[in-house]
Amino acid sequence: MTSDGCNLRVNSERLRADFEALSDIGATVGGGVSRLALSNEDLEARSWFADRIEEAGLQVKDDEVGNLSGLLSADDAGAKTLMIGSHLDTVPNGGRYDGAIGVLAALECLRRIHETGVKPRYHLEAIDFTDEEGTWKSLFGSNGIIGKISSDDITDSLTDNMAFRAALYRAGIMLPELQNARRNPASILGFLELHIEQGKILHERGLDIGIVDRIVGRATYNVVYQGEAAHAGTTTADERHDALQGAAAFIIAAHKRLTEDFPGGVVNCGGVSVMPESFNVVPAEASLLVEFRHPDTATLGDMEALMLELAQECAAAHRLTVATERVMHRAAERMSGYLTRQIESACQAEGARCMPIASYSGHNAQIMNQMAPAGMIFLPSVDGISHNPREFTEWRHVEIGANVLLRTVLQLTV
Ligand SMILES: [Zn+2]
Repeated sequence: MTSDGCNLRVNSERLRADFEALSDIGATVGGGVSRLALSNEDLEARSWFADRIEEAGLQVKDDEVGNLSGLLSADDAGAKTLMIGSHLDTVPNGGRYDGAIGVLAALECLRRIHETGVKPRYHLEAIDFTDEEGTWKSLFGSNGIIGKISSDDITDSLTDNMAFRAALYRAGIMLPELQNARRNPASILGFLELHIEQGKILHERGLDIGIVDRIVGRATYNVVYQGEAAHAGTTTADERHDALQGAAAFIIAAHKRLTEDFPGGVVNCGGVSVMPESFNVVPAEASLLVEFRHPDTATLGDMEALMLELAQECAAAHRLTVATERVMHRAAERMSGYLTRQIESACQAEGARCMPIASYSGHNAQIMNQMAPAGMIFLPSVDGISHNPREFTEWRHVEIGANVLLRTVLQLTV
């Protein structure tokens, strides 16, 4: 690497101007943003992003699942591509930083490299992935790149995906072509993502950067307790088959045991519905939405086994039956050790105070990691607030993170 390349810095004012302009697209009254994937606001943000790419003299590219990229090509047409990016879509009334910072910093890296005449040996691609947040299908764009999206996912007869199909069509994304978004793994050098932490570890420790070494695995379950409806006045306690009592015992046991027995694990019961839901009827059925996460896949499996055991124990204790259905399972991902070390040395060179950190939220990097080495840089989130208009990251941290990203890109490609 040339010393010129090494000492490049992002143009912080330009990056900030981009951030302010992008934050206006889909801005909400409380200072947040609503740019749901494939909505008018999301399409407007993409069109704005495409304009910035062209303005910078980079090449605009989109693919069959709607991912939108800016390209800076290397002289060697057969060179691999280093992909850098995140997502421009948000949750309803979400924050301004989640996703957006990663896409804008990626663009700024390419722009800065291009305008200073540094010649990378690899193609550089700044990418906005379609529907990270799951308005329609979580991590849609990155799953498309690794070949895991096909029209079958959207046309299956069990789910009514008509509105999804219409939204894709309106954005110019054609169902029969979805599979063509798959990239050849041999063509990808790696993937880097800059993102806010969405937790409070870095903020509380007063650090500048988190170097993500693992992204949690996650499993979700429908747990349904079946008892028997009965008169709530005339049925004695020992005669009841109260589905909700079993479900309540399970919720308490699952929270206690899964977090006590598995440090680093988290569990959530995010939904309870009861049938027939009446003052005077003993609940016949109680359905729970259960989720748990752990940064180690094997431990996630152990959590799952214990959760299923507890579900049965609580059913037996309350004379009920229980049905458990796994809705989804995503393995934990260990980030590339090579990229992690590259980011660490970039942090040292930039004087950024950093620590290794596990991500407890899902990201495009965990999908891309299944195809090519992926690395992730976290910025402190003030008070850990995210998916909320009050989401905030100090600009000095954005600037440090963007410079660490730029330096990592240069270390890898120049
Ligand atoms: Zn995000």
